[in-house]
Amino acid sequence: MADYDYDLFVIGAGSGGVRAARLAAMSGARVAVAEESRVGGTCVIRGCVPKKFMVYASEYSKSFDTARGYGWEIGETRFDWPKFLMAKDIEIARLSGIYVRNLQNAGAELIHGKARLTGRHTIEVEGHGTVTAAKILVATGGRPWMPTDVSGIEHAITSNEAFHLEQLPKRVVVAGGGYIALEFACIFNGLGVDTTVVHRGPNVLRGFDDDIRSHVAEEMEARGIKVRLGTRITDIEKTADGLVSRCSDGHATTTDVVMFALGREPYTEGLGLDAAGVAVTENGAVKVDEYSRSSVDNIWAVGDVTDRINLTPVAIREGAAFAQTEFFNNPTTFDHEMVASAVFTQPQIGSVGLSEADARHKYGKVDIYMSKFRPMKETFYGGHQRAMIKLVVEQAGERIVGCHVVAPDGPEIIQMAAIAMKMGVTKPQWDATCAVHPTLAEELVTMRDKMAPPSLGAVS
Ligand code: NDP
Repeated sequence: MADYDYDLFVIGAGSGGVRAARLAAMSGARVAVAEESRVGGTCVIRGCVPKKFMVYASEYSKSFDTARGYGWEIGETRFDWPKFLMAKDIEIARLSGIYVRNLQNAGAELIHGKARLTGRHTIEVEGHGTVTAAKILVATGGRPWMPTDVSGIEHAITSNEAFHLEQLPKRVVVAGGGYIALEFACIFNGLGVDTTVVHRGPNVLRGFDDDIRSHVAEEMEARGIKVRLGTRITDIEKTADGLVSRCSDGHATTTDVVMFALGREPYTEGLGLDAAGVAVTENGAVKVDEYSRSSVDNIWAVGDVTDRINLTPVAIREGAAFAQTEFFNNPTTFDHEMVASAVFTQPQIGSVGLSEADARHKYGKVDIYMSKFRPMKETFYGGHQRAMIKLVVEQAGERIVGCHVVAPDGPEIIQMAAIAMKMGVTKPQWDATCAVHPTLAEELVTMRDKMAPPSLGAVS
């Protein structure tokens, strides 16, 4: 590979790109990574990590109420948004610095600038000229998608801007019913913002189990979030009183901030994929095989730019598998089955495997075990938040094919369930596990009564 400047050139220093670059460099390969923004990518800079800090901050309002119920005297509480933002930005800078150091310690070269493919082995980096590489990895991630048919859309923000609002708004409307819309709606609500969700579908979180979807929507409403379903924002007008969002059902909402979270798109603009002959899907994602190899045999892609499962740990595993295959002579693929995910709504969702509807479609006969209850932490002080746990079991082999938890720490709980399910656990094996008492999660191994089919509360 001596004819090229680098053995590997990675475009994008996010979760997938950094993991691949570090591993490849540790094999002794000459590796460079180009990043046009800050090192760390969406997850660290404008996604999972700062979002989780916001979730933590916003959860305190409920914690204060709970604490009072447990006997604490708590005076007036006040949230200082600028103080929080500053602390959050310092922590993000620290984490980004760790990513930079990890790359450098592994021996990878970091180049700041937007990279563009000019051929299958050539890359032009803004401000740095053209370099050549034997292998190229595209790991540019995704970015918020904005509709073009909403008049006044320029007044709306995306999640990118939500992390840097100068002031905490008093009123916000969030368009969308997916991960980002609901997580931010709960964050704003927890911080005391009057919050409305506007979603076109009959229920939020399409793709999740229907009982979970209904339960989360109900719990969000119980916390004071207005959830407006079956409608969409068609027009945003700036007035003296704020931004007026008009909806297709004739309803209008006036708020200080309008946030759109209608999905994300692969970030390939200006990347020169066509110059290199790299094929893309209808959605503009880089087409790859199971080894993340594109249609050009020396170019690979991992993470959100391939639009497979758009989650940080998946990008990391795809990047690692690529590096193992190409730089450690150890052909490795990442298995995209049984990947657990979390939605940091309040209450939170942890989910792995199939929804009841998908399991019925795939296996025909399934057994459903479901429990909806007020955890003991709530009952003590008269709190109303309900947890929900649902298991989906395919009848023939008794394998647990879906596990869904809506609860504080639901995402922490699901990580452990995911291990057992990845190993193919059956319901009898699951039930043989003794409960841990007193916990919320013990309900997982104590559900013995099947729901009468089809499960109650299912919404199509
Ligand atoms: P999602 O795909 O989760 O949700 C998009 C939402 O926008 C859906 O409710 C969809 O409705 C709606 N929508 C799409 N197009 C339109 C339209 N033209 N008009 C009105 N509504 C529309 O996207 P997000 O932006 O929330 O998140 C993107 C991805 O990022 C997620 O899928 C996930 O992979 C990742 N992510 C993961 C997180 C986590 O792990 N906790 C957190 C945040 C993001 P409909 O359902 O009807 O299609």
